Amino acid sequence: MIYLKSPSEIQKIRIACQIVGELLDALGAKITAGISTWELDQYAEQFIQDRGGRPAFKGYTIPGLRPFPNALCTSINSVIVHGIPSQKVILKAGDIIGIDVGVIKDGYYGDAARTYAVGEISEEAAKLLEVTRTSLAKGIQAAVDGARVGDIAFAIGSYISEMGYYPADDLTGHGVGRELHEDPQIPNSGRAGYGPRLQAGMTLAIEPMVNIGTNRVKEKGWEFFVADGSLSAHFEHSILVTKAEAEILTTA
Ligand code: MG
Repeated sequence: MIYLKSPSEIQKIRIACQIVGELLDALGAKITAGISTWELDQYAEQFIQDRGGRPAFKGYTIPGLRPFPNALCTSINSVIVHGIPSQKVILKAGDIIGIDVGVIKDGYYGDAARTYAVGEISEEAAKLLEVTRTSLAKGIQAAVDGARVGDIAFAIGSYISEMGYYPADDLTGHGVGRELHEDPQIPNSGRAGYGPRLQAGMTLAIEPMVNIGTNRVKEKGWEFFVADGSLSAHFEHSILVTKAEAEILTTA
């Protein structure tokens, strides 16, 4: 079901999204070699609670897996998404870490992700982050009233392949707001001019996941990782489709 949100719903989604954006900024200052992903998760959960929200991923269920145990997904290097925080996972200089976080407040959701450099990273990794961030910007630019979901997918995917990288197979963005995951699915590659039409009042989570070596993905429990072990990056914003350019909701 694709929902068009009313102005009062949009206001609530905006508030949930604001917490997400502020948290991703705050995490940027905490990410350093030597910290565990568990410590980042503890910090995040407290941060969300202090602002009257709840972590939306914690307890999330999909068939066949235990409920997701944490507030954050922490996905390091070749892990694409859904990495689980752990006291045993300590960040090292040169790592890249994707952090994805959802917040529910007053019944409405926000969802965003960023990939961070831990200390000094390789030129190859820095380039991947830049391309992934830019592919998200291109997807957001395409998300205007009257366009189609395929226009977003094409904007993201064509840029990624032009740059010589690969969108991770079968992992998509989605509608967001009343639920964490709503229709439509928003693929990270596809054909312009196809798919559901976008309308002002839709709230969408656009989230390219970009791999260096291959589009192929493997799964282990919750985690998705790149089949050839190469690096992967992930950037996501929740946005509001309007008559003009989309409004990014998950900025601080
Ligand atoms: Mg999402």
